[in-house]
Amino acid sequence: MEELKIQDEEKEPRSLNFIEEIIEDDIRNGVNEGRVHTRFPPEPNGYLHIGHAKSICLNFGLAKKYQGKTNLRFDDTNPVKEDTEYVDSIMEDVKWLGFDWEDRLFYASDYFEQIFEYAMILIRKEKAYVCDMTAEEMSETRGTPTRPGKESPFRTRSVEENLDLFTRMRHGEFPDGTRVLRARIDMASPNMQMRDPVLYRILHAHHHRTGDQWCIYPMYDFAHGQSDSIERITHSICTLEFEVHRPLYDWFIREIGIYVPRQIEFARLNMTYTVMSKRKLLELVQEGYVNGWDDPRMPTICGLRRRGFTPESIRNFTEIIGVAKRDNVIDVSLLEFCIRENLNKHANRLMAVLNPVKIIIDNYPDDQEEELESVNNPEDESQGKRKIPFSKTLFIEREDFMEEPPNKFFRLAPGREVRLKAAYIIKCENVVKDPITGIINEIHCTYDPMTKSGMPDSSRKVKGTLHWVSEKQAVKIEVRLYDRLFIKENPDDIEGDKTFKDYLNPDSLKVITAFAEPEVINAKIYEKYQFERIGYFSVDKDSTPQNLVFNRVVPLKDSWTKAEKVK
Ligand code: ATP
Ligand code: MG
Repeated sequence: MEELKIQDEEKEPRSLNFIEEIIEDDIRNGVNEGRVHTRFPPEPNGYLHIGHAKSICLNFGLAKKYQGKTNLRFDDTNPVKEDTEYVDSIMEDVKWLGFDWEDRLFYASDYFEQIFEYAMILIRKEKAYVCDMTAEEMSETRGTPTRPGKESPFRTRSVEENLDLFTRMRHGEFPDGTRVLRARIDMASPNMQMRDPVLYRILHAHHHRTGDQWCIYPMYDFAHGQSDSIERITHSICTLEFEVHRPLYDWFIREIGIYVPRQIEFARLNMTYTVMSKRKLLELVQEGYVNGWDDPRMPTICGLRRRGFTPESIRNFTEIIGVAKRDNVIDVSLLEFCIRENLNKHANRLMAVLNPVKIIIDNYPDDQEEELESVNNPEDESQGKRKIPFSKTLFIEREDFMEEPPNKFFRLAPGREVRLKAAYIIKCENVVKDPITGIINEIHCTYDPMTKSGMPDSSRKVKGTLHWVSEKQAVKIEVRLYDRLFIKENPDDIEGDKTFKDYLNPDSLKVITAFAEPEVINAKIYEKYQFERIGYFSVDKDSTPQNLVFNRVVPLKDSWTKAEKVK
């Protein structure tokens, strides 16, 4: 499927990760008759981010590897924070990443009746009770990990009274927050999760799917494991923070007496210079630090897509980082490396000048124009060639010229020669400066007509090759130079009374006008290019033929490794 080098190497069998080892053991031992059924269970309270991509690739990837199935299930137990906007975006993102849940789209809210029944079973078994304590009283009596909690005075209510109260809770007889249903487990358990956790709360809130049908909602912990069980998920893969919830999930399943999925925890993806919590991402959106969930600086999947990342590059990234049992932080430059690798293979080349200075070729005929040819992608001959207009007046990057260059400067300088990409060798003769500011306005050069392709001196070597565009045919484009959103390696590691927002990079977006060769007018939305010597760029979704807009995906080289050390 992918042509990345790393992916090719992946075709050689790599050693199994610990989850694959568990699954292969289960298959060998005939657990679940060898069936492998996973699920991706997002809560529709935000847009998916690159961490979710890790989970998606893992769950769908394992099912694919072991001829199993993967469900997409929305764990929509909190009506206050959930919305169909998120449901739609999540489905779009999973599809875009290249995965298919076929006809297995589910919602925990579809199981509300069943989950209510499970609660009734626990009540009848004296394993659950209605508690009238306030939230404060409950947290005060919970104890600490080293000090046992105190039992609720309502813990000894009779089954009849509990059934009656819980049913009346359902029927809307009590206001929000006046009562909850709790499990009766062990207030002295060293595992805080087992200290009579809340199963149901009263919430007169409209749900995006069940409408006003319910005014009590199960807690995530009382819905997640049971939903897995109902769907007969064999391997319920989740992140490490749920390890301490496992005994509780197992307790529910055992007491209710239903099918037992196997939960396996792995380390969530953390990335440098990135915040990954949905709550924080929502804050950035709501407070206007970024322009929406799909702002190209966001680590959301829709943000990465808009920036110009490809599904292959993200899948490849999640494969390279593997699955770990301990928390760790992945360097964001690895993700950038993956998209560079991918676009190097697939993006056609184009010349564009971002910070122009004028070149005048004194010995080139005034009115002459010619068309030169260049390959679109040296990595992929099938992409063919394109024509590039050449004339007497050109633009090159201002940084590619120095009046007094150091020894190792192999670009243009007075008296020195460079090759113009796909064109001639030119030599700098003199410069014209603004008399007041001293800024260089024109660089006058001569060219050697024998050095273009097909001419006798075409293979003459000079040290530097520059990109350029012909002034007359140049097309103005808007270029959005995106950079990392945070300047701090770990923006969650806050000092003093700061917040993560104090570490936003003030230069994470610069908008400039650049000049591109005329081929650029054929660029379609989401199409990717390598601007020669500069980086990879993707056509923004807001781009129009009148105002072409390009997002910088990544510079050609990682410029942060050095910059970081300075900071
Ligand atoms: P966040 O902490 O960002 O708010 P979440 O865990 O609350 O995320 P869910 O919608 O519950 O978000 O996540 C859906 C699935 O994605 C869960 O199985 C969760 O474990 C997994 N997941 C979430 N974040 C990451 C991450 N950073 N790395 C790997 N998997 C993740
Ligand atoms: Mg969650």
